[in-house]
Amino acid sequence: LPSELTAAKPILKQINRAGFQAYFVGGCVRDIILGKPIHDVDIASSAYPEEIKKIFKKTVDTGIQHGTVMVLDHGEGYEITTFRTESTYTDFRRPDQVAFVRSLSEDLKRRDFTINAFALDEDGQVIDYFDGLTDLANRQIRAVGLAKERFTEDALRMMRALRFAAQLDFQIEDQTLAALVELGPNLAKIAVERIRVEFEKMLQGLAAGSALKILVEAGLLPYLPGETGLMTEADVLRVANQLERKQPQSEQVVWALYLGQQGFDGPTLQSQLRQWKLSKEVMQTVLAVGPLLANVNQIDRWAIYEHNAYVRTLLETLTIMGVDQSVTERIQKTYDSLPIYSMKDLALSGGDLIAAGLAQPGPDLGVVLKKMEQAVVLGQVDNTKEALTTLVEEQTYGNS
Ligand code: ATP
Ligand code: MG
Repeated sequence: LPSELTAAKPILKQINRAGFQAYFVGGCVRDIILGKPIHDVDIASSAYPEEIKKIFKKTVDTGIQHGTVMVLDHGEGYEITTFRTESTYTDFRRPDQVAFVRSLSEDLKRRDFTINAFALDEDGQVIDYFDGLTDLANRQIRAVGLAKERFTEDALRMMRALRFAAQLDFQIEDQTLAALVELGPNLAKIAVERIRVEFEKMLQGLAAGSALKILVEAGLLPYLPGETGLMTEADVLRVANQLERKQPQSEQVVWALYLGQQGFDGPTLQSQLRQWKLSKEVMQTVLAVGPLLANVNQIDRWAIYEHNAYVRTLLETLTIMGVDQSVTERIQKTYDSLPIYSMKDLALSGGDLIAAGLAQPGPDLGVVLKKMEQAVVLGQVDNTKEALTTLVEEQTYGNS
């Protein structure tokens, strides 16, 4: 058994000893077989939540309505979910009923793809009812059962197919791809937040470019959040080509690249970002760097100063866009050499100006501060008390 799971093995043992089945399931088994690092350990069991709570001293009801209980062990939390089936999807997204069952195969049958439908027992034995090992070896994403049925039940699975194809650099198997092309319009019924999670993971995946191309070729673009028609196929395909170079390392870069560089005016960009329901932080960043990305030769010393909080996102996005290295090097150099990073760094403060009788409180003070800021940033004056005092005196008395 791989080291990541040995710590969790006693949990399986304890459930087994109480007379129930328990297995590692989901992404962690897939990633272990692939030799990739795992993030979360999911356990599935034939025991019902109440039965799990009797077996372990410390538990937390993290999702009891879906059958999930968290067991606390040596400071670690393990989510244990009762085997379940999902039935009668009437709205293309959520099952109307979740039923607990005692059979592992019933639980694995409801999972999305064969490579996500493994179970691993306490002896490290892989249970593979749907030939997922073959699909792993052939590097393909294949729906469990009939793809058309599975995508009709839950349209989000189409985005997940693209996401896993991108992350693992796998192909999407023919039947699964055909179902995706046919049922794409159902994506419009899925909550924006759920689509966004998969879309962001997809664009950060190893093969993000080819996954994005498949998305466009499959005709899914009109069913994504955002105003239809504003992002053209050409826009998206350009992003797809850029992604062949390098993948974004953050959510900010994903959206700067996808929406920010398109040259939308401020209100349009903001409305697009809102429709994707992005966080305030991401919106702020993309609104700040977007205009610069769309017009790279506007990135002068002052622009770099004004956007210095976003310079990492700016540089990473420009690199993926493939702008000349001399441009990013110049931006980095300029950023590193800035004498100040905000007005607060000025050696002469608003209070100092008033105390020295060089300015009155009120709007004029702001004008004087702005002049000092510009002169310092552009290297016209040193950021020292003396130099700034001289500058302000010259401006005040020299101009009058
Ligand atoms: P990651 O490593 O990114 O967490 P994961 O495979 O663990 O990938 P999750 O979204 O965490 O993906 O889901 C855990 C498991 O639950 C999946 O491996 C899959 O078996 C099942 N699953 C998740 N979402 C769905 C869905 N929409 N339909 C069917 N099964 C799903
Ligand atoms: Mg997971």
